Amino acid sequence: MIFSNPSGAPELACDQCGCRWFDRMTNTCYECGAAVTPENLAEIEAALAEFAARRAAAPPTDLPPASIPPSR
Ligand SMILES: [Zn+2]
Repeated sequence: MIFSNPSGAPELACDQCGCRWFDRMTNTCYECGAAVTPENLAEIEAALAEFAARRAAAPPTDLPPASIPPSR
């Protein structure tokens, strides 16, 4: 499954237990040992490409919002 982290970036999460920790040497879940399938990898790659395209299209929003004016 694909999970979005708080900054909006997609992350691959385990289909079985939903955790996001994988052993990158063996491509298996640290929690339950489920294998990362080629479908999972295609999914996260597509999600990352879509996320990158969205970020490229939108102006950067790295600055904190200046929503509270000084009360003076
Ligand atoms: Zn798992």
